[in-house]
Amino acid sequence: MYNPSAAGGAANTQSGSRVFVYEVVGLRQNEATDQNNYPIRRSGSVFITVPYNRMNEEMRRIARLGGQIVSIRPLSANHQGNGTSAPETTNGLQQEKKEETKPMTQAKEKEKDVPVNIYRPNAPFIGKCLSNEELVREGGEGTVRHLKFDLTGSELRYLEGQSIGIIPAGTDKDGKPHKIRLYSIASTRHGDDLNDQTVSLCVRRLEYKHPETGEMVYGVCSTYLTGLNVGDDVKITGPVGKEMLLPDDPKANVIMMATGTGIAPFRAFLWRMFKEQHADYKFEGLAWLFFGCAYTPNILYKDELEELQAKFPDNFRLTYAISREQKNPQGGKMYIQDRIAEHADQLWELVQKSNTHTYICGLKGMEGGIDAGMSGAAEKFGVVWADYQKGLKKEKRWHVETY
Ligand code: FAD
Repeated sequence: MYNPSAAGGAANTQSGSRVFVYEVVGLRQNEATDQNNYPIRRSGSVFITVPYNRMNEEMRRIARLGGQIVSIRPLSANHQGNGTSAPETTNGLQQEKKEETKPMTQAKEKEKDVPVNIYRPNAPFIGKCLSNEELVREGGEGTVRHLKFDLTGSELRYLEGQSIGIIPAGTDKDGKPHKIRLYSIASTRHGDDLNDQTVSLCVRRLEYKHPETGEMVYGVCSTYLTGLNVGDDVKITGPVGKEMLLPDDPKANVIMMATGTGIAPFRAFLWRMFKEQHADYKFEGLAWLFFGCAYTPNILYKDELEELQAKFPDNFRLTYAISREQKNPQGGKMYIQDRIAEHADQLWELVQKSNTHTYICGLKGMEGGIDAGMSGAAEKFGVVWADYQKGLKKEKRWHVETY
């Protein structure tokens, strides 16, 4: 039977070189816990040191013993090794003490060098529309267009995961200029022409029936953008946004969950990881895109995504949830959260890795289903997802941009 006191030994092997501390509540004081020397504190928490390669096994054991893991922290490097500086008791249990968590160096680095607000709404850059292509194929619903703008002569530069602002032409009902709307950038920092002179967007034309009059209403800016002709001027501001930046670490795991135009920043990520090959960035981690839409013809950038998947099968996974065509195991519509639930164990294993970043982008409200799927997975291991997710957010490894 696995004995947590062996954790220090396993931590010295190369594969198990990382060690984590579980804070556990609710462990039943019984023969099994006594046998393993779990001292149940008055506060109700016990702290258990676990090497990386035993994490899942230990989680299952804790769950069997009625425990709930309320936090998982990496044990800092200077607490590992031969154990001399580790505040561990001889039975391998962690002292009740605040742990240092390793700072996320990538996040810090990024903050130094992220371009923002190079062009402000009172002095936008006037770009030109270079192309405007329909992305929804026959049989799909709505209009979504891929637009490319010329930035020649501008100072505008941006990173994958940022957004730009667009000021639609014309005036509002009071005769005032329209306000800016934000759009996620769908191209890499180098632009679709790889000359650092363009920026691309993926825009859905907003259309809905007025709830009272029943009349069709079309969104101001999205109708303006999707209707642009090649050569038209466009007022561009920004860039903005630091929430959705791609980690610099080429070995990071990147989980992406998108509905509809939420794919825009992930197109930029995937193009940087796989399609464009640059000397300064060779992606070696796992990229996993979950994409949700209503019909197959609404899968945006489908051919290109599938081509990348076929070319890089070890590094890129692609999972669709097509709500009007596929069924979930309960016989209902297949939404992205059903795919999360289907792959919950693998996702749970991935999110525990300190180099895994999860990104959610698209329709407001999609986080609810994703949380439900992740809760189910975490629960199997006695972990409270909401608490665990707080830790991920703190470490800047859980990124959400919904609209
Ligand atoms: P508006 O004319 O501004 O109309 C919007 C208003 O219509 C809403 O405020 C609401 O009052 C009303 N409305 C909308 N739907 C309904 C409904 N079903 N029933 C009743 N009333 C309704 N969009 C993209 O297409 N692609 C992107 O990549 C993208 N990225 C974004 C990134 C960020 C960070 C943010 C904040 C938003 C992003 N958006 C994106 C959304 C975009 O900014 C606009 O909100 C969108 O295009 C609609 O703007 P509009 O001017 O066409 O609509």
